[in-house]
This record gives sequence, structure tokens and C-alpha cells, in this order.
Amino acid sequence: MVKRKNRCSFCGRSEDEVALLLSGLNGYICDECVRQAEKIVSENMGGEVRLKAGSEGFDMRGLPKPHDIKAFLDQYVIGQDSAKRYLSVAVYNHYKRLAQPENDVEIEKSNIIMVGPTGTGKTLLARTIAKLLKVPFTIVDATIFTEAGYVGEDVESILTRLLQVANFDVTATERGIVFIDEIDKIARKQDNPSITRDVSGEGVQQGLLKLLEGSIVNVPPKGGRKHPDQDYIHVDTRNILFICGGAFDGIERKIAQRLNTHVVGYDSVQNQRRIDTKELMKYIVPQDLKSFGLIPEIIGRLPVLTYLNPLDRDALRRILTEPKNSLVKQQIKLFEMDGIKLTFEEDALDYIVDKAVEYKLGARGLRSIMEAIMIEAQFNAPSEQEKTLTITRKYAEEQIKKNEEMKK
Ligand code: ADP
Repeated sequence: MVKRKNRCSFCGRSEDEVALLLSGLNGYICDECVRQAEKIVSENMGGEVRLKAGSEGFDMRGLPKPHDIKAFLDQYVIGQDSAKRYLSVAVYNHYKRLAQPENDVEIEKSNIIMVGPTGTGKTLLARTIAKLLKVPFTIVDATIFTEAGYVGEDVESILTRLLQVANFDVTATERGIVFIDEIDKIARKQDNPSITRDVSGEGVQQGLLKLLEGSIVNVPPKGGRKHPDQDYIHVDTRNILFICGGAFDGIERKIAQRLNTHVVGYDSVQNQRRIDTKELMKYIVPQDLKSFGLIPEIIGRLPVLTYLNPLDRDALRRILTEPKNSLVKQQIKLFEMDGIKLTFEEDALDYIVDKAVEYKLGARGLRSIMEAIMIEAQFNAPSEQEKTLTITRKYAEEQIKKNEEMKK
């Protein structure tokens, strides 16, 4: 007698025609139909990536890989390759951790710390990555926090913000990502514990440690200060990824000290070896953060350390034109909406960079310089007949001169 082959109860294919046939109470289903069914279910439930109940974890399908994440960052952020790579990997690993079944090998989270001069793209990186993320994300400034009992906010309010972006969905909050800006501002003021209390320094670091370590935290739903007769939301921070950023002004000196050398300024004596800050940052190690005033426990909880380079002329020039929403592209768009074709001559752009370097404001300066140059045209052009406008170096110089005179 020939044995009857088992068949998929949905598509009818036999077990030798499919890779896998699962049996149920009264029937079978093949791998193809499982995939099809999953697609239909996910489409009918909004299609978004969800944390499934129980040990099934987080759905990895369709999530960007580190290369994709970096490519996306490249569209908005110029240079800073090292930081981009670290961030891409960290975010990807974060997803992997979320997808991990409960009792499998536990992948520890790798919170990150990004060190780099102000205005070099730390916050921009964080904001850009937020556009891509499939988990709740928030940016907080470490300077608003003070130790309990003093004017300021409790560190727990970081989680309030994450809860808010997640519409108070605690499960979603517990897999979110938080960017803590200006982490260097909560460094201990002196190397030795002082007699006067350091309410915005070490105390805050201790508070933060609790969140970074992963614990159940009582979060005031409205943020601010905790008070006794308030209802709290309990949030488990074990799976929340923390990314910290800070300028750590003067850390080069600590690095130099450690390297047993010293920083030499640009107008230095000729025969001394020149070490520019850019080079020094590459050598940064956790120990330097400790010399700067972060407590070792915090450093231990931020195992991934990366740096951002200061922006040189070339980078500033690229920032003007290359990012997807570069200043030049934005201006062109603004004028295009009035039917005016705007162009910038190359040496006008060089002039903007010159000014930014002169003002020592880095990339932040580019915007105000651009605004100063364009204000008059933005005011007049929409009411005029002329449908083309070219910004020459001469025009840019005149506008800046006018602006500088006005402010005298
Ligand atoms: P910080 O490092 O102090 O967080 P930001 O990321 O806030 O600096 O940078 C300030 C502004 O300068 C950004 O909004 C962006 O317009 C510009 N900028 C800074 N660095 C870059 C960069 N690497 N690429 C493109 N734009 C940049």
C-alpha cells in the first residue's frame, strides 16, 4: 500500500515539494504559507515592527543593517566616519538584542559615548539616526539635571520623555534609545571630592548610573521633580540604549599628559613636534574621561567610546553644499518657491567658509553667515520681476559688511 503524503492544508503542496511542513491538530502548513500568513497579519496590524509577546522578541526583518544605517547618516552628516560606524553598529546590535529570545545567550547592551568639539555633528548624528529608528528615541541635555533636593530635574525625567515619545507605551519605552547631550557638564568639578556639594556633578552621575546599569525605575509621568504623593510608572531600563555626547573641552591636554607629551599650539616653536588636536583625539581611552571627572562606574557603563573630528575648511565647505538638506539647497528651495532660480558662485561659498573660520563658530557659524547674506534678497526678491539671482563673492562681501556695520 502506498503511504499518502502529507500536504499543506493551505496550498495543497506535498511534503517533498516544500522545505518545511509543520503539523497542527487537523492539518499542516508549509514554510511558504507561514511567511505569507505573517505578511498578511503584519499588513493588517499596521505593518510596523513590533515587540512580540514573550520570548519571540523583536522582529528584525526589514531593519537597516550597519552599512545601510551609515549610508543614511552619510546623506546628512559630513565626515565623522568613526562615530558613524560605531553608531550604526550600536543601533543594529540594539535591535539584535531586542530580537533575542529570553533564555538565549544574553547580549549585553553597549551604551556609547561620543567625544568631540562643539558643533562637529554629535547632536546632528543623533537627530539623523532618530529619523531612521524603529524604536522610541529622545534627546536630553544633561545640564538640566541636579541631585535630588536642588533646583533642577531628576534624572528619571529622561525616562518621562521617552515615555512621552512612546505615547506612554511602557513596553515600547523599555526598548528605546536615549541621547544624553553635554554629558561632560556633569563631570566632577575637582579630582578630589570637595567639601561643598557638587549638586550638578557627581550626584547626577550617581543618579544616571542607576539608569545606565539597568534597573526598574520609578518614573514621574509628568517629569520634573519626584514627590511622595505622586503615581509613578515603573520602567525597566535594562534594554534602553544610552548614547552620550560631550565636547570635553580640554581633554586633549589629559590625553597629551597620558601620552607623556604636551599639546603644542599652532604658533609654537618650530623645532617641536606638532601634535594637533585632531590627532590626539584618536588616542582617547576611557581613562581620559576619568581624568576629566566622570566616575569610573559611569565610564564602565559606557563601553563604546568614539570621537568626532574638529571640522576643517574642507569639511565646512562640504557641509555648505553636500548634505541632503544643506544650507545652499535650502536657500535654493526657498527661492524656487517664488519662481526664482538662485545660484551661488563657487568663490561666494569659499567666502562663507572664510568667514565661518574667522568667527570660530565652526559649522554653527555657516548658518548665521548665510542668513546675513541672504536676508536682503529674501526680503526684496519675491516682489520683483527678476527670475534669476546669482550670489557672487562681491555681493556676499557687501552684505556681510552691511551686517557688521549695523551691529557696531
Ligand atoms: P554638536 O557636536 O555640538 O552636537 P551639532 O550636531 O549641534 O554639534 O552641530 C551644529 C550644526 O552644525 C548642525 O545642526 C549642522 O547644521 C552643522 N554640522 C555640524 N557638524 C556637521 C557635519 N559633520 N556635517 C554636516 N553638518 C554639520
